[in-house]
Amino acid sequence: MSSKIRILPEDLCNKIAAGEVIERPASVVKELVENSLDAEASEIAVEIEMGGRRLIRVTDDGWGMGRDDILLCLERHATSKIKSAADLFGPHTLGFRGEALPSIAAVSRMTLRSRSSEDEEGWLIYAEGGRIRKAEACGLPHGTVMEVRDLFFNTPARKKFLRRETTELGHIGDVLGRLALAYPHVQFRLRHQGRSLLDLYRHENILERAGAFFGSALARDLIPFRRETEAGMVLSGLIAQPAVHRPSSQGIYTYVNQRFVRDRVIQHALREGYRQLVPQGRFPVAVLFLEIDARRVDVNVHPTKHEVRFSEQGEIHDFIAAAIRDALRPSGWLRQPVAGGRSGENDAGPASPDGASSTVKPEVDAGRRVAESLGRYAAGLSPVRGFPEPGAFRPPARQPELQSSAAEPPAGFFTSMQIIGQFSGSYILAQNGEDLVVIDQHAAHERIGFEKLRQQFRKGSVESQQLLFPVVVDLELAAAALLTDHLEELRRLGFEIEPFGGPSFAVKAVPAILQGAEIRQLVGDVADDLEALDKSSSIETQIDLVLVRMACHGVIRAGQKLSAAEMGALMRELDLVDFQAHCPHGRPVMHRWHQAELEKFFKRS
Ligand code: ADP
Ligand code: MG
Repeated sequence: MSSKIRILPEDLCNKIAAGEVIERPASVVKELVENSLDAEASEIAVEIEMGGRRLIRVTDDGWGMGRDDILLCLERHATSKIKSAADLFGPHTLGFRGEALPSIAAVSRMTLRSRSSEDEEGWLIYAEGGRIRKAEACGLPHGTVMEVRDLFFNTPARKKFLRRETTELGHIGDVLGRLALAYPHVQFRLRHQGRSLLDLYRHENILERAGAFFGSALARDLIPFRRETEAGMVLSGLIAQPAVHRPSSQGIYTYVNQRFVRDRVIQHALREGYRQLVPQGRFPVAVLFLEIDARRVDVNVHPTKHEVRFSEQGEIHDFIAAAIRDALRPSGWLRQPVAGGRSGENDAGPASPDGASSTVKPEVDAGRRVAESLGRYAAGLSPVRGFPEPGAFRPPARQPELQSSAAEPPAGFFTSMQIIGQFSGSYILAQNGEDLVVIDQHAAHERIGFEKLRQQFRKGSVESQQLLFPVVVDLELAAAALLTDHLEELRRLGFEIEPFGGPSFAVKAVPAILQGAEIRQLVGDVADDLEALDKSSSIETQIDLVLVRMACHGVIRAGQKLSAAEMGALMRELDLVDFQAHCPHGRPVMHRWHQAELEKFFKRS
């Protein structure tokens, strides 16, 4: 019997590889522009026709290719970038698999022109469906021009999947944006049908580049930062003020060793850093560059190299989360650590990172250790819901440079406002400079209660208030079982609860802040939360959730008249709070209208 197995011909292999690497015009742009960057180009121009279907042309001023190289580069596994398996650990180039050009050539009509700086003349190669049809000398300034026409002309199935011109163009824009943010010193241009869509000159740094790319309005809300571990891991980049959040993760750009990646660990750590600051279901805006020893990350996980694998996930996660948190601290959203300690109650706890330091250790807090067993119920739940519009709150003073963060706490932000009065028994009206400020007294009080509880909890000293008569609470079976499991943690939260037979419990003491709360409702809610906590968020998140729940039980309600002194007291307390903008449920605490906005409304400007 003759053998059934055969080795596939080279051009078929290339078509198969193209199936993996070249999904759409944007994939071609990615591969070609990455090659230009690897060739150390300082100017890259991308020209597109019909969303990339008809033409993709990438021109660069990189080091180009000589005659031998240009003939070789269409061969499969032809690369100048690695030599041995050892180089796979941390190639310093974007490409290294030697697959892109043969794959693109296999599914298009491709013209390559290139001239290396040593050569007198350039070379041209024309290939159709991967077959070289023409090779000749040509005149060219040094650099490379890659022209890809009629993409997928010989793979109709793939061609059918191409979307509308604007959609494909959108993908191309995304790809270029990701690369442009990582290479601010390189000039990028994108033209479609001769019209300029993107024109990024060489920039000094990432902040300038981001300004040009995102627009100056958003750029004003970006905080540059850089944090480093003793082991040499570096996280740097830009993070947006928490008021700027988006409905998707589109505004999040993450890079590992300058390569754009989509990574679950980094994404999660970023959101952990913004925890409580950005509403649930919304995403921050950030450009993050992680630099890490190349031996600790595998980039060769997927042909498009959009995924990586870390050898020490947990450590990287904690470093990133703490670094983000720390970098957000001077933004005015997190209370400043006060030099000398203004009042003991104000300190967030012994192990919380201090905004002035630039070396971050993973955040460890008392709650974490004590509530270890809660881990099993950890949840993807976040206490923050129903958020305000972006820009609802602008923190007072911004300090882009972290080094100066110890200098000026934004304390007194609320107390320095001039109180105008109370509106409708629910809102405090105040003036702050040129702003009219409206504070939701209920939300503000909730925020304060939450912060107090949290601070006390972190110090292991939630003040407890004995009840005159124990209150008996009946729970559902599952909730009762959970409560029984967590009586010890609840004690740390200020509760004294004893089993009272079956699903009943006797509540003997509650956190002092919550005295006067409806006890049955309170304990029922806390038990519900324990039940909901079943997946993988940090213990801190879980504790916060319970604290949030507790906080909203002991507060000033809306519709309660406040005296001037009471309003003043509320403002003073707000100044002591860590996150000033939103109540723990995610409702905004305040809103500001700038005088200019009012003037515009009244058509006075
Ligand atoms: P890889 O980038 O993985 O090496 P490619 O198929 O993308 O594989 O490219 C093959 C080789 O062609 C590269 O290693 C490089 O030497 C050369 N090359 C491709 N594009 C350019 C360019 N724009 N400038 C200079 N050399 C290039
Ligand atoms: Mg390449």
